[in-house]
Amino acid sequence: MNLEEKLQVLSDAFGVAGFEDEVREVIRQMAAPYVDRCEVDPLGNLICTRGEGEAVMVDAHMDEVGFMVRWIEKDGFLRLTALGGWDDRILLGHRLVLKTRSGAKLQGVIGATPPHILSEAERNKVVPLDDLFVDVGARNREEAEALGVRIGDPATIHYPFVRLREGYVTGKAFDDRAGCLVALEALRLLQGVKLPYKLVVNFAVFEEGGLRGAKAAAYRIAPKLALALEGTIGADMPGVPEAKQPVRLGQGPAITLADRSITVNPRLARFLEKVAEQKGIRYQYKLPAYGSTDAGAIHTERGGIVAGVVSVPCRYIHSPVSTLWLSDLEATVHLVTEFLNQAGEFLATL
Ligand SMILES: [Zn+2]
Repeated sequence: MNLEEKLQVLSDAFGVAGFEDEVREVIRQMAAPYVDRCEVDPLGNLICTRGEGEAVMVDAHMDEVGFMVRWIEKDGFLRLTALGGWDDRILLGHRLVLKTRSGAKLQGVIGATPPHILSEAERNKVVPLDDLFVDVGARNREEAEALGVRIGDPATIHYPFVRLREGYVTGKAFDDRAGCLVALEALRLLQGVKLPYKLVVNFAVFEEGGLRGAKAAAYRIAPKLALALEGTIGADMPGVPEAKQPVRLGQGPAITLADRSITVNPRLARFLEKVAEQKGIRYQYKLPAYGSTDAGAIHTERGGIVAGVVSVPCRYIHSPVSTLWLSDLEATVHLVTEFLNQAGEFLATL
């Protein structure tokens, strides 16, 4: 599989926060050839290890934003609650994939009241998630249950991966399957390379809605140094002034200086910049201080862990149409691989 095909498989896999089984199995198969062992912790984190010595942790979250069924109406319509941060403005009129307890997938649609019967005031109002309803073709609650639907079932807006043009692609879950792919590619490129430390890659659960998986994994792994990989907030688009664009597409990997969950140790930020400059990798800063990342949860674990973040620029994250340039993804793989190649040098200074 080439890079684009791998991203397709990863983005299309189901992995709503707290229900990561399917995507975890996909990632486990992709990672296994390049690591000594993979284990799953009690929360569901997939922890892949190679080599011996002091631990360096790389983290990318497997989960994606989604929903949970919170109620089944008498007339068969479903109500949802959010798993992760959604923008209510983009929810109406999408197709949904719902996973039942047996693992079967049902199709549904987020219905919209016809504009013909709405007043102008109603048409101009954003419908909050609480008022939205899902139609799975059930004519009453009993039929919904007969289809396998239960309160608590997870769901996602499923838009299959599509190439918009050569090198420019869109899919539902580049946050953070792009980061997962960067970690997988770095493992592949480092195969056979002797590293002076133990490399532990955590594919985290529960990032969306509380950075919970990475926190538990960081405690278990007890690294001295950690790097979180993200697909992050590309906002170079009409109507957004440059000063409010956290990252821009086509400008290479984004190095975080600070987000809402962490101020990155300046020595680590300088080390990442040095690696990029040495290898001629064009990079950008993620403008402070937007979003939260697993690095936020990792760096306060144990007695404190030096942690940073490198991200693939993605537009429209937390929507079903996240979009990226594969050239940015490739450059991020390059930077992270070179960082891991040289991380022993930085580790020795901690
Ligand atoms: Zn993310």
